[in-house]
Amino acid sequence: LMDALADQAAIAIERVNLVADIAIAERAAETDRLRQALLTSISHDLRTPLAAIMGASSTLRDFRSALDETATDELLLTIRDESERLNRFIANLLDMTRLESGALEPNIGPHDVSDLVGAALKRASQVLGDRHVDVELAAELPMVKVDAVLFDHALFNLLDNAAKYADASTITIRAEPGRRGAVVIEVLDEGPGIPPGDLDRVFDKFYRVTKADSVRAGTGLGLAICKGFIEAMGGSITAGNRRDRNGAVFAISLPGEITTGALQ
Ligand code: ADP
Repeated sequence: LMDALADQAAIAIERVNLVADIAIAERAAETDRLRQALLTSISHDLRTPLAAIMGASSTLRDFRSALDETATDELLLTIRDESERLNRFIANLLDMTRLESGALEPNIGPHDVSDLVGAALKRASQVLGDRHVDVELAAELPMVKVDAVLFDHALFNLLDNAAKYADASTITIRAEPGRRGAVVIEVLDEGPGIPPGDLDRVFDKFYRVTKADSVRAGTGLGLAICKGFIEAMGGSITAGNRRDRNGAVFAISLPGEITTGALQ
């Protein structure tokens, strides 16, 4: 009997090992797939703006005397906008590298929500263009405990997405007290929203709802960075759709600074 049991145990262990091997192989295949996806999206994201910059600058140089002021302006604008796009892309890659390397050490301190929102809006002004942004901050919000730089990148990515996926409609930033002293900061847009089946996955690295979306170039990294940064600061982020109308809602919950008033 003991021998039979030992045999069975050996078979069971072998099976467990096999399952583990398969899991490792699947993970390796998944890593390969992700690496491939990264390379493809990196070359696309670098090449598209570079091609536009090269085209515009060559035209400016070769046809300088034939171009009127409007045409010259347009070419210069292309160069500026596309450089900005390259800049954002590189910032996202660096952010992702910082997150992945585990080298992220948030410098957390109390910050005023209105200052944080103002700074992100200022930095995003070029991406936002002349879109209308409604800022609705509840009165007497507690300070939030964040790293201002990380929060800025997270909110910037949400605004960038709202501008990118919701076209020219109004974007709303709302901040309200949450549960247990937290503050909830929401970014709402009036775009198509996110298909319910994709909501769970939009924060995954490289995940894009519309794969072959060449107009709205992207890496699928923005929301992964957002979530990584927010969680590194002890907060959380969720994606959803508006109930009152079409549009996506991203809700960030952050620890608020406990004031003596709140303790009483
Ligand atoms: P990227 O924008 O580079 O594709 P993100 O990680 O920022 O990557 O977003 C992942 C995906 O989530 C996007 O490709 C898009 O399909 C979807 N998404 C993000 N924000 C919005 C939004 N405001 N409205 C609709 N879809 C969105």
